[in-house]
Amino acid sequence: MNEVILVRYGEIALKGLNRNYFIDLLVKNIKSVLDDYENVKVKKFQGRIIVYTNGYDMNELLEKVQKVFGIVSISPAVVIDKDIDIIEETIAQRALDKDFKTFRVSTKRADKKFPMNSQEFSAHLGGIVLKNKDGVKVDLHNPDVEFQVEIREEVYIYDEVIPGLGGLPVGCSGKTGLLLSGGIDSPVAGYMMAKRGLEPVAIYYHAFPYTSDRAKEKVLKLAEIIGQYIGKFKIYVVPFTDLQLKIIELCPEKQITILIRRYMARIANEIAKKEGLGSLTTGESLGQVASQTQESLFVTGEAAKLPIFRPLIGLDKLEIIEMAQQIGTYETSILPYEDCCTIFVPKHPETKPKLDKIKESEELLKDIAPDLIKEAVENSEIYYS
Ligand code: ATP
Ligand code: MG
Repeated sequence: MNEVILVRYGEIALKGLNRNYFIDLLVKNIKSVLDDYENVKVKKFQGRIIVYTNGYDMNELLEKVQKVFGIVSISPAVVIDKDIDIIEETIAQRALDKDFKTFRVSTKRADKKFPMNSQEFSAHLGGIVLKNKDGVKVDLHNPDVEFQVEIREEVYIYDEVIPGLGGLPVGCSGKTGLLLSGGIDSPVAGYMMAKRGLEPVAIYYHAFPYTSDRAKEKVLKLAEIIGQYIGKFKIYVVPFTDLQLKIIELCPEKQITILIRRYMARIANEIAKKEGLGSLTTGESLGQVASQTQESLFVTGEAAKLPIFRPLIGLDKLEIIEMAQQIGTYETSILPYEDCCTIFVPKHPETKPKLDKIKESEELLKDIAPDLIKEAVENSEIYYS
């Protein structure tokens, strides 16, 4: 008797001609989160994906597979031969192992040659359960457990359907540059866009020694946590100190934040060329801070050469915190290592920057900025989640 996980996918089944591509990608992503389990096999089979656990702990594998985007639901199941005695024995044993008062049996028959029809066979197996377990009864409408029997080439038996996260398989929409700080918001933003099928290349601007190496470790830890959903992805740790210091030295204080943002975007433009990115993603939410007004978002975005996705734009901080808690990044995000030293934060930041005034300030940097951008990209450290 083999233990397997039945994986059902939904939205991706609707994608017409791309269907096979989506399914193959989903198989690849499931394999990727099960990388450490050498003998686990993942196969596509008749409209679903089957994970052969090969003796590994079922709950451990379920927890990993459940986090893969593009899955509608999963069921831990056993696979047995198409033999009535074995089916009866298996269902009797499962009933004994489980705690319930009411149940029903449902049968699906892909193999129409099977001697009994689905209804007859469900009723027959219901009788087996009643005979083998005391104190239980059948409830067709609202049972505590539903034993499901699928008769195909082989027979699958299961009694649990665990919801998946939905979404699209990571990678099917291309790659995005995820501006990942150590805060609460950007990991949630990365999670949301990955759920729409975008594979992130994370970019963290590190102002060492104004920002400590512990802040960098924190960002890498956040990448590891969202990696449980997304699989392995690349992280650029960009040395950002020289450029920031030049901005502070040469430009009006109230513009610092917005200028820093525009140079972050320009560095991301360069990384985008190297990595084939089709968009950038940030954790910005309208009105949350001075740099997140309409005017500021416009001026920041103007420096980027790609669309900027801001999936949190219409959410409240409390809603974002709730999501961060759900996906498991919150506790790490609130660790106290500042992601930006206070010398880089103006006392009275501009909330309605004017593009022409900002461009005037950038004129003061025009001789040095291109080299500083180039060096920052070249000297980036590369990590993986
Ligand atoms: P977060 O919680 O994601 O840090 P925040 O509310 O602190 O966001 P800001 O600090 O204004 O907001 O940053 C807005 C967005 O800019 C972040 O969500 C992130 O995408 C990007 N960002 C800011 N600082 C950095 C950094 N040091 N490295 C990479 N991205 C950054
Ligand atoms: Mg922040």
